Amino acid sequence: MLLQNRAVFALGLRMCSTNVTRGPLVDTGRPSSDLSEFRKAFSKAKHIAIITGAGVSAESGVPTFRGENEKWRKWQSQDLATPEAFSRNPSRVWEFYHYRRELALSKKPSAAHLAIAECEARLRKQGRSVVVITQCIDDLHRQAGSKHVLKVHGSLLETRCVSCGEVTVNKRSPICAALKGKGAPDPDVADAQIPVDKLPRCNESDCHGLLRAQRGVFWRNSGLSHSDQGGKGDGNL
Ligand SMILES: [Zn+2]
Repeated sequence: MLLQNRAVFALGLRMCSTNVTRGPLVDTGRPSSDLSEFRKAFSKAKHIAIITGAGVSAESGVPTFRGENEKWRKWQSQDLATPEAFSRNPSRVWEFYHYRRELALSKKPSAAHLAIAECEARLRKQGRSVVVITQCIDDLHRQAGSKHVLKVHGSLLETRCVSCGEVTVNKRSPICAALKGKGAPDPDVADAQIPVDKLPRCNESDCHGLLRAQRGVFWRNSGLSHSDQGGKGDGNL
């Protein structure tokens, strides 16, 4: 999309046949791969949005949870990433997120994350703004140095208290003692069946409510229609 003094380009999204779509996207909404046109538009843009999907983090070794990685144990990842699954079996869903948190915490930003952060820093000095809008729920854009990151699917490394609603950045590994060594993805691994009071709990005084991974407005089955969620999406669920 190219508006007055604005440019949008997308990386790592499954919105075209290749892994990388180089903008600008033309007014018709269809992506363009015309690089010279892109450079022209980009050099004039004052406000730039960079949209990234799972492909950016896949370069860092973060599984996309699609295709052969779609399942965790015997469940579809997308079926575990729902409020209903969490309320039915918080121990199982915490094991699933714990596995993914530990994976995310072990990864480093890819060349794409670093290039985006460098671009943001350089353009900021020129008085131009860059926002990164990402479907990824790891912390790799921030680790790379990006300052202005909007996470449409939330973050694996933030928690929300189901009682008081407090949202906190939480990079502890493991997030609680009971999850240490749990979360193995193999299909024959049995649920740890951790009692709810041993799962991650809120540190706010007098609260001690159950924590869950902080997910964005697009948490599965959060009330938005399938089309509102962009179909199955490309984010790391
Ligand atoms: Zn709380």
